[in-house]
Amino acid sequence: MSISLLANLEKITATRDFASVEHSLLKAIGSTVHVDELSLWSLDSRYEVTKVLHYHRLVQVREGGMERETEHIDTVYTNIEVAPDYRSLAETVVLSKRSAARKRQDGTLHMFPVVSRKAITGIVSMQVRDELTEQDRALIHGILGVYANYYALLDESQRDRLTGLYNRHAMDLNIERMWSLLGSDAHRADPRRNGVVQVHGLAIIDIDHFKKVNDQYGHILGDEILLLVSRLISSCFRRRDPVYRYGGEEFLVVAGAESPPALATLFERVRAKVEAHYFPQVDKVTVSIGYVNIDPGLSPFENIGRADRALYCAKERGRNQVQSFDDLREQGLIKEMRYGSTELF
Ligand code: GH3
Ligand code: MG
Ligand code: MG
Repeated sequence: MSISLLANLEKITATRDFASVEHSLLKAIGSTVHVDELSLWSLDSRYEVTKVLHYHRLVQVREGGMERETEHIDTVYTNIEVAPDYRSLAETVVLSKRSAARKRQDGTLHMFPVVSRKAITGIVSMQVRDELTEQDRALIHGILGVYANYYALLDESQRDRLTGLYNRHAMDLNIERMWSLLGSDAHRADPRRNGVVQVHGLAIIDIDHFKKVNDQYGHILGDEILLLVSRLISSCFRRRDPVYRYGGEEFLVVAGAESPPALATLFERVRAKVEAHYFPQVDKVTVSIGYVNIDPGLSPFENIGRADRALYCAKERGRNQVQSFDDLREQGLIKEMRYGSTELF
């Protein structure tokens, strides 16, 4: 094994942040095998693509003929397009749970499954001009094995024990990066396509009068209700829109939609789904939701503050309802007072 490969493997396990681990995986493969194209496709449990990272290695020729190589990684979260030949080869990989290859005009397209706890959670695709050697394949499988094990450990450490959702620590780690991608995704979106994500909303979902549930029925039933509510909420969103357990009985989600009304409908569906559910012993549980149409020009925490203010209104106006910061502001029901970059409440 080469020293550079060892160094790259070390990098995979040196960070606690999912995105950095994924970057290190691509860099480890990109520096081990000569590739024309290299991508990591993240899949949900239905094998839908939730995210893709494209790796590029650029050779710059500088004055005097000196060559310098740079690496660059692009991440796409929304409106991901998968070419038909990629899709059909990916299906073969998912069905067989093994790597597969297909000859193309300009070389060979290879795909390797990323397997975590016996499930395929991703695919690494690479376009190569020369055939991969047996040693190349063994190295790639080895790198993917280290990556998948480490990723599973990291994933476990960022999940809440009770609900299995990502915890607040995970949100703090991910939100800044998510923010930097929101703008670029919207930019990339083609407004003429149907079903394209044009807006993102950030919602805080809070269980109504949850203290009463604990006081009346005990903490153990309280925990069970919390778990059921978290499942109901998660079932309304795609995996690419993860739900975080933000506080004790509060959840936070960043979700994409086609339009502001579609966003409103999405959050209203969450509220209605919880209201319609029959819970053991307590029968009915409701949630209040405050959300904001994300303004990527403001910090994540300013947007969270806005969603929180909308949530406060939902509670004040009788609970079991959805309130939008933007609508409230338009109606003059929330005043925006800004001092420097900080909003005053
Ligand atoms: P509101 O409608 O205003 O949100 O009322 P609330 O009672 O839900 O809000 P409050 O903030 O007064 O109380 C939240 C309660 O959530 C208090 C706490 O006991 C309960 N809680 C928080 N985390 C957990 C948990 O992990 N398990 C259980 N069983 N209860 C929890
Ligand atoms: Mg509450
Ligand atoms: Mg609360």
